[in-house]
Amino acid sequence: MALDQDTFDLLKDTVRRFVRERLVPAEDAVEEHDDVPPDILQDMKDLGLCGVSIPEEYGGLGLSMAQECEVAYELGQTALAFRSAVGTNIGIGSQGILMDGTPAQKAEYLPRIASGELIMSFALTEPDAGSDAASLKTRAVADGSDYLLSGSKRYITNAPRAGGFTLMARTGGAGASGISAFIVPATLPGITIGKPDRKMGQRGTKTCDVFLDQVRVPAANLIGGEPGKGFKTAMKVLDRGRLHISAIACGMARRILDVSIAYAQNRKQFGSRIGDFQLVQAMLADSQAELLAGWALVRETARAYDAKPPGASDPDVSMQASCTKLFTTEMVGRVADRGVQVHGGAGYMNEYKVERFYRDVRLLRLYEGTSQIQQLVIGKHLMRAP
Ligand SMILES: Cc1cc2nc3c(=O)[nH]c(=O)nc-3n(C[C@H](O)[C@H](O)[C@H](O)COP(=O)(O)OP(=O)(O)OC[C@H]3O[C@@H](n4cnc5c(N)ncnc54)[C@H](O)[C@@H]3O)c2cc1C
Repeated sequence: MALDQDTFDLLKDTVRRFVRERLVPAEDAVEEHDDVPPDILQDMKDLGLCGVSIPEEYGGLGLSMAQECEVAYELGQTALAFRSAVGTNIGIGSQGILMDGTPAQKAEYLPRIASGELIMSFALTEPDAGSDAASLKTRAVADGSDYLLSGSKRYITNAPRAGGFTLMARTGGAGASGISAFIVPATLPGITIGKPDRKMGQRGTKTCDVFLDQVRVPAANLIGGEPGKGFKTAMKVLDRGRLHISAIACGMARRILDVSIAYAQNRKQFGSRIGDFQLVQAMLADSQAELLAGWALVRETARAYDAKPPGASDPDVSMQASCTKLFTTEMVGRVADRGVQVHGGAGYMNEYKVERFYRDVRLLRLYEGTSQIQQLVIGKHLMRAP
């Protein structure tokens, strides 16, 4: 699946201009009001951004992973709240249905997800099951032609905006093989949305707990129609998501470097531009070199991802996706830290964008698998090698 090159180039150009002309000027409003303005969200939907990863037959743009990463790199160059508002539809909320859903599930949900009419969230994490997601406790008990779901989910991105959840619950015994994935409409009786989480950064993103109390979900909403496959689905979704996050990290590193260079060109001390001091240049140079390395890694891993059969999991590609997320999200943390340093005291002040970006990128090392979990995935893979 890929969009032809000419059409893709046009799309990328449009997204780049949209980011610069529409989103960047709205960054302060997002920070102040802790929300993405509804007209901007609508413009993002109209541009097709909710459907970049969904095939054209379901109303999406049908981008390859490599193309999705190019778009994510552009979206990463502005407040990360904009990307987050459509990010669950592009990735973790939709991909389980696309990869493992039945034809009927795909036909029913994907077109509405692609258009943005339906915002989907991904609900895996629970209060007692974060990195150890296979220990999740939310239960799904068969009851006639339905399942009754009870439990609670934590830190669910876009839950306050969501019309539905790709939600993992336990249909069987302990461990990963007892977990199934469901499509759960947010309007079902028994679902309660918690109060919005107050976070360190990424203002304008929405996360909260989701509580389920005997929620009656039709068995037809079991993804793929077969119980016990949900953990595998979730892990495949996360492999793809990790690449998307890596591209976002590179985009944000680009933006932080740009604002840092601009500051270094203008700020004068000791009668010179601070950017003329070699110690300041060293910080900028380290960030530039690491960004190039990270972005090359994203492109290479995305190519490997596209080369495998669609929807299949490949341990080599999973390992590469973990390497890519580990490197790029740690990299953008270092770039942001240097960005603050280049700005001196101004870098600690709210009115400078770099202060905000420094807080925003911290999350990238935590969700969709912490850096330690990426190390574990890589380490396990290496120890399995003959
Ligand atoms: C803003 C935000 C949005 C999120 N959005 C979503 C979402 O949409 N859907 C969703 O399902 N989840 C979401 N999450 C949850 C996120 O994926 C988890 O927070 C993350 O996986 C870590 O789990 P935890 O917070 O329980 O930390 P823990 O698992 O408790 O980890 C705490 C620390 O211990 C380390 N650790 C844990 N196990 C090991 C180990 N075996 N070896 C070494 N170190 C280890 C971790 O790396 C970390 O440093 C979101 C989280 C945040 C903060």
